[in-house]
Amino acid sequence: MGLNVILMGAPGAGKGTQAGRVAKERGLPTIATGDILREAMRTPGVMAPEARARMERGELVDDDTMIAIVRDRLWRPDAVQGFVLDGFPRTVSQAEALDGLIAERNNGPLVVVDIEVSPDELIRRLAVRRVCGTCGANANPEEPTATACSPCGGRLVQRVDDNEHVVTERLKIYVQATRPVLEYYRARPTFRVVNGAQTPDLVARQLDAMIDEAASAAQPARK
Ligand code: AMP
Repeated sequence: MGLNVILMGAPGAGKGTQAGRVAKERGLPTIATGDILREAMRTPGVMAPEARARMERGELVDDDTMIAIVRDRLWRPDAVQGFVLDGFPRTVSQAEALDGLIAERNNGPLVVVDIEVSPDELIRRLAVRRVCGTCGANANPEEPTATACSPCGGRLVQRVDDNEHVVTERLKIYVQATRPVLEYYRARPTFRVVNGAQTPDLVARQLDAMIDEAASAAQPARK
């Protein structure tokens, strides 16, 4: 039986770090829509200028584009047993479309975990966050003086959308567009909330336990 996981949370909550780890440990692909868009931006001509401009301003890319990206990605062979989604859905329309895609696949429960972090802590984290300019990996926040990416040796840089003005915009959009997605999922028996203001290791342990418990609660009892 497969497993589908969505990690929700504001920018800077730690979704990327936890999604990569959960996916690796469970043999599932991470589908990070921000990474897919940034990758497309590196190849000239792939991304519509409007989508690029929206991303650089910290606004959301339109639902039709995002739903098409996720639909294509979900049908790739490595996602047959499920996925860990990071950064999608960000609007209620995207969440509704995703329910439709999951219903077509019928491959295991959907577990949704919100990684909760206060706005002050998010702003503090985003101001110091650095990523690799070559492979896109997040830099280790416990090594603030490192200049090179530990997996690939690439140069560590600040994301264009992590500057103070754009961060404020992204957090505002998160509250307006994405908080309603939490309400969309909240009543489901497989919705959980983890305190993201703890160390990454502690978040990881609690998150893993929540995913296992929610997934088994969703399975029909075996005789
Ligand atoms: P992220 O790396 O997840 O913070 O995403 C970076 C940017 O990509 C966001 O600020 C949006 O401009 C765009 N983006 C990523 N995922 C989505 C989505 N599901 N819906 C709309 N825009 C998105």
